[in-house]
Amino acid sequence: MTPDEFLLKNHSPESIEAECRNSLERLLREIHSPASLDDLWPVIRTSAVYRELSENWLSWTESYRKREWEALGREMEKAAYATRFYCLRCGDCCRQGSPTLYLEDRPILRQGIIRRLDLLTLRAGEIGFSNVSQDLVLLDQEQVKVKEKPGSRECLFLDSGTGLCDIYENRPIQCRVMECWNPDLFYDLKAQKNLTRKELLNPDDPLVPIIESHSKRCSLDDLQRALIRAQRGFADAQEEALDILFFDQHLREYLSREQGITPENQVVLIGRPVIDILQSFGFRIEEDAEGEIRLIFPQNKKVFE
Ligand code: SF4
Repeated sequence: MTPDEFLLKNHSPESIEAECRNSLERLLREIHSPASLDDLWPVIRTSAVYRELSENWLSWTESYRKREWEALGREMEKAAYATRFYCLRCGDCCRQGSPTLYLEDRPILRQGIIRRLDLLTLRAGEIGFSNVSQDLVLLDQEQVKVKEKPGSRECLFLDSGTGLCDIYENRPIQCRVMECWNPDLFYDLKAQKNLTRKELLNPDDPLVPIIESHSKRCSLDDLQRALIRAQRGFADAQEEALDILFFDQHLREYLSREQGITPENQVVLIGRPVIDILQSFGFRIEEDAEGEIRLIFPQNKKVFE
């Protein structure tokens, strides 16, 4: 049963207990805890949050159940990690997303341990995976990240065979503070400043004005506004969104042809192609019988609203 299905149903205390025991057992397995369910279940069963939930479930609204269910989830996570408070070098966290870089990571870039080619930029307004909430979020600021292996969220530097990090001694700060058993440390990173593309280039680099022009002409705020208006039926909005897409495509062709900057290098300088960003929002591009390019909207889904 998914958490959402569970929340919709009326459960007896026995069925709540069964579901909680299952969740806890799964969690202990996932984090490779040496503790057994029987070791830990008494801790959860006697916790205030579990007792409240078990006694009052039937009288609660769905939103209240959700809130309390999540609180119990956090309680179980805390208790489970207390039984396994050390790094197993299992590589699990490196398979769930690559690190975002912070200003403090500049030395490893200067030393060439991480090269520009190993990076990509997610611009503000893109959908990105948050290592903190373990969910997809709309980014409110630019992120420069280590690339992930194609078709997965596995970090480029993870040796898939051994499960070890190729740059472990010099890994980025996000990886150094990553203690899966202590998520609070991860939240502390919020005080650190993100690395941005500006820090990757000299101010007089001829690429700077190109990047600025791309950011202006292919602004994701403008793209989102155009998509929202297009969904509401404004005829000119579809054209505005396509203009942004075409400018982005032309600039990429120009950079490859005239400047010898390959697509692998472009993703850090001007970010991911707009066509990929549109796809991440659920849009598709189609060419009709007359050769006209059209934007196809996600079915039954309003984006950004
Ligand atoms: S840089 Fe190393 S430690 Fe960090 S996510 Fe990649 S493989 Fe893991």
